[in-house]
Amino acid sequence: MIIVIKSETPQEEITRINQELINTWRVTPEAIPGKHKTVIGMIGDTIDIDPLLIQEISPWIEQVLRIEKPFKRVSREYRHGQASEITVPTPNGDVCFSEHHPIVIMAGPCSVESEEAIVYTAKRVKAAGVKFLRGGAYKPRTSPYAFQGHGESALDMLAMAREATGLGIVTEVMDTADLDGVAEVADIIQVGARNMQNFALLKKVGAQDKPVLLKRGISATIDEWLMAAEYILAGGNPNVILCERGIRGFDSQYTRNTLDLSVVPVLRSLTHLPIAIDPSHGTGKSQWVPTMSKAAIAVGTDALMIEVHPNPAKALSDGPQSLTPEQFDRLSLEMSVIGKAVNRWESPVISSLGVQ
Ligand code: PEP
Ligand code: MN
Repeated sequence: MIIVIKSETPQEEITRINQELINTWRVTPEAIPGKHKTVIGMIGDTIDIDPLLIQEISPWIEQVLRIEKPFKRVSREYRHGQASEITVPTPNGDVCFSEHHPIVIMAGPCSVESEEAIVYTAKRVKAAGVKFLRGGAYKPRTSPYAFQGHGESALDMLAMAREATGLGIVTEVMDTADLDGVAEVADIIQVGARNMQNFALLKKVGAQDKPVLLKRGISATIDEWLMAAEYILAGGNPNVILCERGIRGFDSQYTRNTLDLSVVPVLRSLTHLPIAIDPSHGTGKSQWVPTMSKAAIAVGTDALMIEVHPNPAKALSDGPQSLTPEQFDRLSLEMSVIGKAVNRWESPVISSLGVQ
């Protein structure tokens, strides 16, 4: 349930309302940040509370609304219809994820392989307009015999790439035991598709400060995904970016997954959290990545995550879906066409590549 307070309400009255919620109604009030309204979230067992009785607490209360969805803190109503703005500090400056800001592009290899390759890739993607370097140190692989990531040493390589370029770092945590080490290097912590319902991990990332990129589970419904995000917010961390990365369909011959772009308008109506699209895992094939990246921009995504590798044929993971830096330069320019149309992104690449 949320309580909307009149904007001119004196602070003492807000304090009194909060006290009454705690003492009489046995719920925890939570101040919800907002530009235009003062909103209080009521956390606890509110199912049997009559909104009309809450309304009577104070004449300064404008409205009391019940949130009907199972997810509360992530719901759009919880922030009274306003979008979240997640500001992530990076050495190159603050980057904001929100529907009111330019689209944020994150790119880099699936796995961090060597210092030379990661620094090179970071420089190349930065020149094409990227704000965050992605790269896995701990890799969730289907086969136990496949490359599992370089672990701690890969985190060191990411730190070097950050130092060399000023890009923010996005990297995945798979195990609660690695969280502190990952959080030291990462500006955004990725929780991968396979761990979307690893509730122990969700609670841990919820109890620390770094923003979290929460990928959609391979067969997760939108409600399950939002409930996973709810775990992180309930743990105390409001900074979650939802990342669609394709769901399991029945045709794996032509695409690895089915990229569900309809989540963008659907999530927009359900949640205030920013939305990212990963067309690399979403399609599994580099040839489909440019088209789906542009489609994601057209449909209103707030961010994109794209795999780029200096030599995809030799990549230790996900080579077939990785773009070369040259292909990424071209995509950067192509994305500008749609990005300018929606007024949310412009490539810094100079158009010598034959794209307007
Ligand atoms: C990745 O980003 O490299 C990755 C493993 O993603 P997902 O969890 O979406 O499969
Ligand atoms: Mn990958």
